[in-house]
Amino acid sequence: MQSESAKVNAGRTPRRARALAKAPLGAWELTFGGHSTRAVVTTAQVRHSLAAFLLAGCLPARPIGTVPPPSPALKLGVDSHLHLSMSAAAKPIFLGEPGRGALASSPDQLLLNQVDAPSLEAAGVRLILGALWPPFAIRPARSTTQEALHQLEELALFAKRHPRFGIARDAARARQLLARGRIAVLPAIEGGEGIGSLEDLDLYYAAGARALTLVHFTGNRLGGAAHGQLGRVFGGSTEARTPEGLTPLGREVVRRMIKLGVVIDLAHASDRASLDALSIAEAEGVPVINSHTGARALTPMERNISDELAARIAHGGGVVGVTLFRSFVAGVPEGARIPGHQPDTCDDVVAHWLHLARVAGAESLVLGSDLNGFVLRPREGGSCPRGVRSSEDLPELFAALEANGFPRSALDAMGERLLLVLEAVEARADPSVQAAASSRKPTRVDLFDVPI
Ligand SMILES: [Zn+2]
Repeated sequence: MQSESAKVNAGRTPRRARALAKAPLGAWELTFGGHSTRAVVTTAQVRHSLAAFLLAGCLPARPIGTVPPPSPALKLGVDSHLHLSMSAAAKPIFLGEPGRGALASSPDQLLLNQVDAPSLEAAGVRLILGALWPPFAIRPARSTTQEALHQLEELALFAKRHPRFGIARDAARARQLLARGRIAVLPAIEGGEGIGSLEDLDLYYAAGARALTLVHFTGNRLGGAAHGQLGRVFGGSTEARTPEGLTPLGREVVRRMIKLGVVIDLAHASDRASLDALSIAEAEGVPVINSHTGARALTPMERNISDELAARIAHGGGVVGVTLFRSFVAGVPEGARIPGHQPDTCDDVVAHWLHLARVAGAESLVLGSDLNGFVLRPREGGSCPRGVRSSEDLPELFAALEANGFPRSALDAMGERLLLVLEAVEARADPSVQAAASSRKPTRVDLFDVPI
């Protein structure tokens, strides 16, 4: 059932979408190993290429009757990578925001909001790492650092507008919010592109960031990204292999994150950079996470986690978030498929959960959906007849996991496990470093909202 406001929003969106389709999204300058590429991308181009992906390969759905009924709400489910307020990052092409109930259900609606509070509550997903995405300086007169700070402000404002969500900057506040029946959101920055010094990291902390993905699509000043990511997104491969591990600044940043109590997220990092960060964290007894990934053993690419790394993260008390991104979980080999497996559906996702549970333990896994992250989710069919279009379809995914032997108890306990991670990270923090960072104030003069 859609709410009245959802109907209004759904009815208004196509017209707005058409008007926006011709608007230039912006000129993006991407630098790979010293080479710069400048591309002007329009909304229509983004929509058309994504729609073509969506329409490719339509296999018949699994017969009705073999699909388990949707799972009742989890006791305390987690999403370790969910973009809540994406409209702050990509206003021209992203329509709607959580709370309006406009859920993507067709290629045309791909860039509409895929998350809302009622459906998260129905799924029992109430502890979230709210991912913010400031990888490129896409707005004039605003650096990537300022973009990140702006998005942190936007996330806080978003929670004020939508009181079913609450911002949690520590585990105690998260527990408090959860006890009051609200959805707890820990602010998380995806990509350390805006960090050129420890002071920048302190500013992120002061603005509320409590998790940081060190790198994103390409290597940055902190370290190397998993190879081949841009090829998957844009075609071709232009990425440099340097830096491969963590840079000296990257090592300093990781040590500072530990002192600040900021969760280290190894998603997107190269193996070398992941191992470098993990070694520092392990020496300090601090758990790390990989917020959204597939299993490399099933879908080989460096972006997906190796069995060894997943086991090591779990051993250190961390968690691994399993993504919904279709191309990160595609091509599941015969031996790892579930009964009646239909490729490109949520059956692929289930197979990745089952594999990672075998190597890292079911209790170390959480959902790392990347909803609203411009990724193609499982298409309709298999165990999820409607596909995983939005947070509305998560109960089908959880039911499929359970039906294929993933323990319900581990699903129910995801939240408690992540809270323990947060508490372990906080326990290693240095209050004097936290206090010094908290007192830092960004230069406000350029934190204005530049129209694009
Ligand atoms: Zn990501």
